[in-house]
Amino acid sequence: MYDTEGKKYIDGVSSLWANIHGHSHPMIVQAIQRQLHRLDHSALIGLSNVPAVQLAKKLVDCTPPNLKRVFFSDDGATAVEIALKMSFQYWKQKGPCWSTKTKFMAFSNAYHGDTLGSVSVGGVTRFHEIFRPLLFPTIRVTYPFCYRCPLGKQPVQCEIDQLKEVEGILQAHHREVCGFVVEPMIQGAGGMVPMPEGFLRRLARLTRRFDIHLILDEVATGFGRTGKLFALEHENIQPDFLALAKGITGGSLPLAATLTTSEIFESFLGKYEEFKSFFHGHTYTGNPLACAAALANLEIFKKERTLQKLQVKIRFLKQNLNRFWELAHVGDIRQMGFMVGIELVQNRGEKQPFPTKCRMGHRVVLAARRQGVILRPLGDTVVLMPPLSISLDQLKKLLDITYNSIDMVGPCK
Ligand code: PMP
Repeated sequence: MYDTEGKKYIDGVSSLWANIHGHSHPMIVQAIQRQLHRLDHSALIGLSNVPAVQLAKKLVDCTPPNLKRVFFSDDGATAVEIALKMSFQYWKQKGPCWSTKTKFMAFSNAYHGDTLGSVSVGGVTRFHEIFRPLLFPTIRVTYPFCYRCPLGKQPVQCEIDQLKEVEGILQAHHREVCGFVVEPMIQGAGGMVPMPEGFLRRLARLTRRFDIHLILDEVATGFGRTGKLFALEHENIQPDFLALAKGITGGSLPLAATLTTSEIFESFLGKYEEFKSFFHGHTYTGNPLACAAALANLEIFKKERTLQKLQVKIRFLKQNLNRFWELAHVGDIRQMGFMVGIELVQNRGEKQPFPTKCRMGHRVVLAARRQGVILRPLGDTVVLMPPLSISLDQLKKLLDITYNSIDMVGPCK
């Protein structure tokens, strides 16, 4: 990217984690232009449009086989919100025995967007505390954050005990619960915190056993971020709902999709006078320009073998991140594919955070910007989330500048 003075930058966080193939990729630009000459917009309510139909088919083809239906919207928060509303309505329509299901479960420190429904299942206190009186209650489960184990255990035991907690809560509350909303494999805005291996698989099994929907929020992890097209592929999960956004258009235009199963779709069918419809529609849902961009995005994955080429970059990133341990204030380095969080602490041994007013993460970001790298922190966790198309040379430069920036930001006075 270039600023208004012509200075060059590496976009180290993919414009809030959305960009996949670099900015203004010619195939995406061309797809949008071509579509613009055919049809700019036609609302999906009661009608359809060609790119939306084609994209729905492509999304069904590249996600788990149980996901057969697609509902379009405009951004990550609405994709999640739609899953919540559909899940809730599904249980209502299933019959009186199921009508006690009215709540959702979610992890501590989860982030699912900024609309009120998404905030209700979100758990990042710093972002959303002020809105608490407006939110619906959510059953909160502690996330297995093994660096700072909430149970004070070593990683392996931390994970086992955390699952026991989930099972206990499900045992007690499953009759009240519609679904469990989860960011699969890694929590993003909560600080880039990966799940222990196997955790998601066991969690998915529990949701099945207790008859609650598994709602996977792949808004951040989708479209190659974790090294596979979708994070759920790491553990072969078949969720009841899948929320997609951000990278769906390669980071070019706003679009989101909520995928679900035939069984859930069919529960909304009935006679007109039964009003089983899903009453939710945004004006720009399934916008043809955005859908054309999304089709081009998937095409580029194939044509440029994006995922195959990514694997060596992920390994390079992992090796080069090791060097960051030389920096005294690096407390933890967390990586899942092309999602990285480097947590800065005052004291590595005791994992003691810096006082908030020091704004360490922010200062690192400003230092990086002066050297031609755009970053954005999560508190004192420095995030790296480059476009998947980044070259090894650019990646090296991004890492070097990030290293220097952390190094040069001295302790706060
Ligand atoms: N879910 C997750 C996991 C996210 O990371 C985000 C955005 N960072 C959202 C939902 C919300 O997406 P949007 O900003 O497009 O509403």
